Amino acid sequence: MFNLANAIARVESKIIDTEMAKEKTDSEGRKYIGMYFKCCNVYTRIYKSRLGDRYVGFCPKCGAKVQLMIGAGGVNDRFFIAK
Ligand SMILES: [Zn+2]
Repeated sequence: MFNLANAIARVESKIIDTEMAKEKTDSEGRKYIGMYFKCCNVYTRIYKSRLGDRYVGFCPKCGAKVQLMIGAGGVNDRFFIAK
């Protein structure tokens, strides 16, 4: 069950390099990257924001939010892990 308080408390922010993130595009033209949520051992997509400056997504099981800022010199993990 989604718990907003928990989700806010567990926001994870990172800086990533878009190229290294291996961005993909879905059938509707939205940009996304693969995201592994360590909290619930589940893999899902997180989508780029409308402004294009970050990827934002939620764990589909517990609602933990992850926010990846896009910028040079960021992390280059294939998958990002929400703690
Ligand atoms: Zn979770």
